[in-house]
Amino acid sequence: MRILVTGGAGYIGGHAVKALGKAGHEICVFDNLSTGHEWAVLSGKLVKGDLEDRAAIEKVLEEFKPDAVMHFAAFIQVEESVREPLKYYRNNVANTLNLLEAMRERGVGNFIYSSTAAVYGIPEHIPVRETAPLLPINPYGMTKVMIERVLADLAAATDFRYVALRYFNVAGADSGGQLGQAYKEATHLITRALKTAHGEFPKLFIYGTDYPTPDGTCIRDYIHVDDLADAHVKALDHLVGTGRSEVMNCGYGSGYSVKEVVETAKRVTGIDFPVEETGRRAGDPPALVADSSKLMQTTGWKPKYNDLEYIIKTAWEWEKKVRGTRR
Ligand code: UDP
Repeated sequence: MRILVTGGAGYIGGHAVKALGKAGHEICVFDNLSTGHEWAVLSGKLVKGDLEDRAAIEKVLEEFKPDAVMHFAAFIQVEESVREPLKYYRNNVANTLNLLEAMRERGVGNFIYSSTAAVYGIPEHIPVRETAPLLPINPYGMTKVMIERVLADLAAATDFRYVALRYFNVAGADSGGQLGQAYKEATHLITRALKTAHGEFPKLFIYGTDYPTPDGTCIRDYIHVDDLADAHVKALDHLVGTGRSEVMNCGYGSGYSVKEVVETAKRVTGIDFPVEETGRRAGDPPALVADSSKLMQTTGWKPKYNDLEYIIKTAWEWEKKVRGTRR
């Protein structure tokens, strides 16, 4: 199939592009390279463009004529979304509407959407199922709820079909060593811990030790980025094969606390990097763990890298490589 991938030069998008290419799909990446990189596009071609620019989206749809669109391009930092909500609503909501309108205009009706566990806010039951109430506690999560609602309404009104994948905490790097996280400002826990191990930051802060969890730090479900990329390939097959819209969690169903992640990172790197416990970070729910049985049953997806140590190992290999080449 011909797949247009927005944000395909980014961390998750780049891994998905590689997996889609391996599965035999033809790819066109549409990316403004604000956080992505040309080198991350390992399959197909790259069109540099912005989702603010409706004419540019229509042009790429007209020229590439995709069978489906995968939409990764978005801002993703919870804490920043609390400080700068308009930036998030503009990019994650308004620019996604541009894309959806252009797709309607050009008759493209299959859509895979990057959603998030942040839609659940503070879930009452862990592991959380897709049917749990959507009560986000930060603007980032709300932008994703808003677009999920738009997608449901659009699918009810037209022949548009979609799969929204609610990612839990995506981490690790390409098992083949070609891809990994390369944001200018690393804020995610595992990347931050590894960069601290490398000496790029003087210490790692643990944000909050008074949460209602066994060791007081937040619990997250870390999913390897290659498993997530594979979930996209399978979600696409499901969507095109059945024409049925779905919303599905992507995680492993096992949670680790911030302290457990830090201990594992120290073990994997063999470096006892400095850590300081500090206050809570705005917008963080205490625990997020996925029930992904729907994804497994619906698409046949199976986790391959369900191992925190392996996840951190691949990320560490990538960090060492990036540092070596000064990317
Ligand atoms: N975290 C931390 N120190 C850091 C970065 C993150 O203690 O330098 C914590 C953060 O407060 C949260 C968890 O690690 O409880 C996961 O945060 P991350 O930013 O990796 O992902 P999020 O869950 O926000 O998507």
